[in-house]
Amino acid sequence: MDATLAVTFPTECCLCRAELASECGLRICRSCWASLTPWRGPSCARCGLPFASPHALDSAVAECAGCRRDDPGFDVARCFGLYTGNLRRAILRVKFAGDERLGGRLGELLAFPWKMLPNDGELGCPLIVAVPLHSARRRERGYNQSQLLAGGLARALKRAVTERPAILRECLRRKRATPPQTGLSVAARRENVRGVFEVVHPAAIRGRRIVVVDDVMTTGATISACARALRRAGAAEVIALALARATPQFPDLSSADRDNTVDGLDRDWT
Ligand SMILES: [Zn+2]
Ligand SMILES: [Zn+2]
Repeated sequence: MDATLAVTFPTECCLCRAELASECGLRICRSCWASLTPWRGPSCARCGLPFASPHALDSAVAECAGCRRDDPGFDVARCFGLYTGNLRRAILRVKFAGDERLGGRLGELLAFPWKMLPNDGELGCPLIVAVPLHSARRRERGYNQSQLLAGGLARALKRAVTERPAILRECLRRKRATPPQTGLSVAARRENVRGVFEVVHPAAIRGRRIVVVDDVMTTGATISACARALRRAGAAEVIALALARATPQFPDLSSADRDNTVDGLDRDWT
């Protein structure tokens, strides 16, 4: 692990190293936190993929090429922001520097894309589930970062809506460990996670509206595989929410990341 991430100084912002005016629990300065902004530009109506060009929506179908080619498995997916800059660095801290508390706070940001979705309420309050890690990786890390995000989302929604959304723990199981998705083609990513997920207690989700939460969505192969498993087990509706969307349309150009060799940690999407 990169030493600059492993060592933390309580009086410094963990993202920009600026001195913190007062000791705060999260160790992120005000301006870094404020830089975690939601995507407000044009995006695919189905999977939420942000479009670099507003002209992408000029066609009659407001869906990206991927969604037009294959059914993504979920009803709709949305992300909070782009997997670049401080949002990306914050996620890497949660995954590889043990910053569980930050994971919970970042999860609260998922309330933003959730509230942007049309919500007819017909299916009632959603059940929130996290994309699971394989048990070996879960043990190695000590926690599942997506579960932290799910917890944060549930807290944020509890404050915002009258009906209490519930988290369903241990809902999905990863049947086998899969090689990292990084560097694989779209088709290879899909093949890599095909049939990997199963619902542990199908009765708990039958006929329900499910929100499945992940940290980073790239092609959507992983969250689609989760959505298909949930559908097969009887979920009525599956909404995928990811904190960040990684897309080559918006590469991370911040030199600070490269200098800190954070990319070396970015070895795995799980
Ligand atoms: Zn900062
Ligand atoms: Zn799409």
